[in-house]
Amino acid sequence: MVQENLKQIREHIEEACQRVGRNPKEVTLIAVSKTKPLSMMEEAVQAGVLDFGENKVQEIAVKQPCLPEHIRFHMIGHLQRNKVKQVIDKAVLIHSVDSLRLAEQIEEEAAKRGLHVNILLEVNVAREESKFGFYLEEVENAVEKIGKFSHITIKGLMTIAPFVENPEKNRDVFKKLYQLYVDIKGKNIDNGTMVALSMGMTGDYEVAIEEGATMIRVGTGIFGTR
Ligand SMILES: *Cc1c(COP(=O)(O)O)cnc(C)c1O
Repeated sequence: MVQENLKQIREHIEEACQRVGRNPKEVTLIAVSKTKPLSMMEEAVQAGVLDFGENKVQEIAVKQPCLPEHIRFHMIGHLQRNKVKQVIDKAVLIHSVDSLRLAEQIEEEAAKRGLHVNILLEVNVAREESKFGFYLEEVENAVEKIGKFSHITIKGLMTIAPFVENPEKNRDVFKKLYQLYVDIKGKNIDNGTMVALSMGMTGDYEVAIEEGATMIRVGTGIFGTR
């Protein structure tokens, strides 16, 4: 089932890229395996998946040692400051940096241990009260401040778009984040490298790709409902 689902999703990724003249190689599929067993993740690895997304530090810690070493884990869920220690040496990228205080904590822990941490800034584009993240107008300032930290590299931006039945309703959210991403890239702020734009989930990844996503996070579409 996992293999069949992956095949379909990869086809949809290619088609979405074709519609807008993008190279599918620019889009990394992150298989969101939260709550799912290792057996399903192994199936995904067999089908060529290299990147998994998890929203709990503990789940990464348990699963990572059981999978091949070349497999990468992405932290995509809200990260509490007291859990930073446990994840900075395990995740290839933390997508969910949603406050300056969290970035400061990452910098402090990374400095202590001589680590370097790659992050994305999470942006609450649609200003939903239930969600974490910077508002669009706060991002540039955050990039300037966090850009000065020597143990962190900001690789780009991430958003969790609203839950909608019709993915077209999120097109504007993705457009806005892409525009900000391009604007910040153009300003050449220290450390604001802007090479990754993480947006799009099972319900809306095709629209996100059409609007410039370089990473999509797909869970249900690969592993079934949670
Ligand atoms: C769970 C989750 C996803 C995947 O959601 P699906 O709708 O199952 O594809 C993507 N991003 C984040 C941040 C998540 O927590």
